Amino acid sequence: MSAAAFVLAINLFVAGIFATAFGVVAAYQRSAMGARWLAFAYGLGVVDVVLEFILPYQQDHRLVSFGIFAVFLLALAGCVIGLAHHYRIAPPWTVLLVAVITSLAVNIAILDMPRASFARNLLYQAPYAMIQAIGLSVIMANKKKAALDLALLAIYFLSALHFLAKPVLATAIGSGAAPQAYMSSTYAALSQTVGAILLIANGLIMLLIILRDVMAEMTARSETDALSGLLNRRGFEDRGDRALALATRSGVPAVMIVADLDHFKQINDTYGHAAGDDVISAFAKVLQECAAPHAVLGRLGGEEFGAFLPGANLTTGKLYAETVRHAFRGLPAGATGLKTPATASFGVAQLMPYDHLSDLLRRADGALYEAKSEGRDCVRMAVPGMSRHARGGAGQSGNRFSS
Ligand code: GH3
Ligand code: MG
Ligand code: MG
Repeated sequence: MSAAAFVLAINLFVAGIFATAFGVVAAYQRSAMGARWLAFAYGLGVVDVVLEFILPYQQDHRLVSFGIFAVFLLALAGCVIGLAHHYRIAPPWTVLLVAVITSLAVNIAILDMPRASFARNLLYQAPYAMIQAIGLSVIMANKKKAALDLALLAIYFLSALHFLAKPVLATAIGSGAAPQAYMSSTYAALSQTVGAILLIANGLIMLLIILRDVMAEMTARSETDALSGLLNRRGFEDRGDRALALATRSGVPAVMIVADLDHFKQINDTYGHAAGDDVISAFAKVLQECAAPHAVLGRLGGEEFGAFLPGANLTTGKLYAETVRHAFRGLPAGATGLKTPATASFGVAQLMPYDHLSDLLRRADGALYEAKSEGRDCVRMAVPGMSRHARGGAGQSGNRFSS
């Protein structure tokens, strides 16, 4: 077996492994159009290698030669479409279609040109470089570029360069005058090896990008409350912990606000559970509209909400709570579906050194309890470290947040 044939055999397995891997991801993630296209593209890669193996045994090699070119071209185009789908960018269908049709026509035109000619080699390889350049533009169009996306950008750039360098290399060291001679040439061994390295790097990085994004999506979904669109309890504690640690580390003040809708049971009893749900989402919307983008907002359970505001002190925290309170009770009947305005009570607590999230929540909850007992529809502040509910008398509500 020649070196090129050996590398081809490796390529066959690599393409097969990636086709399977992308197929598995696509099967588990029903909406993963990107993974489906990539599975298809790597599947074409398998077909391509099989055609490469049978090429030397053809009397008239032209049909199989054309097949190899066409299948590989479509595989590269399939990768670009898969990437675009994954990045949620409209695939560049028109550009790809024009590129593929032109390339196929050019390939038919050069079938009978001498294999060793530079012009033939250039016209053979340039379409591949062109598809990779389209791929580059897709990766560039994706706004969020993390390390893996940049690595993929580099691979696509190197791959385009590789295709353009091949005609020069073929002319310099010779690529064999016939398919049989090609298989045993040093050029074939080199070209197949570089191709294999790029194939593996490309597949691996794309697989990692898909897995990274699928995992991020699953985490976001498991931490989001479906009714309010805010973080759920788990997400709030996770993000709140991180935001609190950052504020403490950088010496930035922060406040915690806990809010609870007033007489909500009565709203449910009077208007029904579905109407109650609408009130919950109306309140969440107000909470969100009044907050700065970096605020951590969550539905802690039932009709109870939390807002962690980094950068705010007791005064600005109270101002935020008052703004939400006014905006909520001032909502038009159309927004809540209620005949009389719904109201909410608020407790505000300031972040103290050495506070855990549970300490802060406990103090804010103590202040909320005061707001409830003092008539509801108001904002109360926890005196730092002195709230009677935060200390001993937390039996009623103060311990609900301890972890
Ligand atoms: P208070 O002013 O003291 O807070 O009184 P309240 O009636 O609001 O408080 P209570 O804790 O007695 O009742 C809360 C109600 O919220 C009871 C529960 O059925 C209702 N609830 C909890 N989760 C949901 C939900 O997701 N949707 C709806 N519609 N109701 C909910
Ligand atoms: Mg309530
Ligand atoms: Mg409640």
